[in-house]
Amino acid sequence: MILTGSALHVFTDGLVLGAAFLTDPLVAWGMTFAILAHEVPREAGDFALLLTAKWERKKALIWNATSRLACVFGAIAGYLALSAARDWIPFVLSIAAANIIYIALSGILPWLRHEQETFAWQGGFMVAGAAMVPFGMRFLH
Ligand SMILES: [Zn+2]
Repeated sequence: MILTGSALHVFTDGLVLGAAFLTDPLVAWGMTFAILAHEVPREAGDFALLLTAKWERKKALIWNATSRLACVFGAIAGYLALSAARDWIPFVLSIAAANIIYIALSGILPWLRHEQETFAWQGGFMVAGAAMVPFGMRFLH
């Protein structure tokens, strides 16, 4: 279940990357960094869950890495599909941004409220990320 869900997640990450690379290299590399920043801890969590489910380390690592290939397929699919439909790129990127904001506000922010020691740092990074949105949007025109 977790491998399938994560494969779907990284596939959509790949779709967004494909759209971003059709837009502007700066936007694309910024998104690549953002995706890496949220994926590395998530991958570690998925790996830990597989180990908790009594998977052997090697098997968990191989299956975890294999399911992440969906990101490459998503990037290729997004790039090829949106190459032929460039008018859709702003909509795809807007939906992706809205999805990330939804996850941050509904999933992460409530959890952070219980983390008193790091709330200021985490909140500061969230505000900095939101402040970067207008900078990224100027590349979509
Ligand atoms: Zn992701």
